[in-house]
Amino acid sequence: MSRLIDTHFHLDHYRNHEMLFQTINKLEQYTLCMTNSPGIFLSCKNMYPETKYVKFALGAHPCEIHNSSIIKEFKYCIGQSNYIGEVGLDFSKKYEKNKQLQINVFSEIVKMGTKHNKLISVHSRKSEEMLIDILRQYRPAKCIIHWFDGSKKHLQELINLGCYFSLNSNMMSENKIHSYLINIPKDKILIESDGPYTKVQGKRYKPVMLKEVYHIVGNILEIENLDTVISNNFKKILIS
Ligand SMILES: [Zn+2]
Repeated sequence: MSRLIDTHFHLDHYRNHEMLFQTINKLEQYTLCMTNSPGIFLSCKNMYPETKYVKFALGAHPCEIHNSSIIKEFKYCIGQSNYIGEVGLDFSKKYEKNKQLQINVFSEIVKMGTKHNKLISVHSRKSEEMLIDILRQYRPAKCIIHWFDGSKKHLQELINLGCYFSLNSNMMSENKIHSYLINIPKDKILIESDGPYTKVQGKRYKPVMLKEVYHIVGNILEIENLDTVISNNFKKILIS
């Protein structure tokens, strides 16, 4: 069996993060821990040594952007990680008023990330058109769309742009989505937990459940040995 990989997790959103940090290392699960701002990224790096299994990504979550000074902070930190996330666009009602600011910040981040060839984990809600425009402009080589919930047409456009897609257990219970997730090429699939924001068998996600997430996604997409498929895909994105 290949080691399991979780490409989108929020360690700092758990109250017992110290214990979970130990668990992930003990389980030997490669885990990309997102952060929502450069400040949080720096505190996580301060608090935890980077291990073989736990990596922190530099983030600027679209729902947490309040002014453009975040671009400067981002630039200051970018040399400290090979991973960027959580970043993206969120045009749902609550965050729509920040639309232009989000676009400016995200464009700068994609530009920087592409230049430095970082892996980028992207959030998008009701913003696929703009997301596709920005990705088309900069063409990042290592782009993962996290928890995709756009249309079939947008999915195809993102596939054409060479994006990867990280799938989680909750996505698999939405019928409309998994009917077309099947169109994602097998070599572009990754697995995420998005813990603590997903559930597995009705329970809030914890790292010991990652195996179960693989099982659920593998069943729906009818992929045997999903762990090996994901391990190969992850190796490929890292060297692209
Ligand atoms: Zn997330």
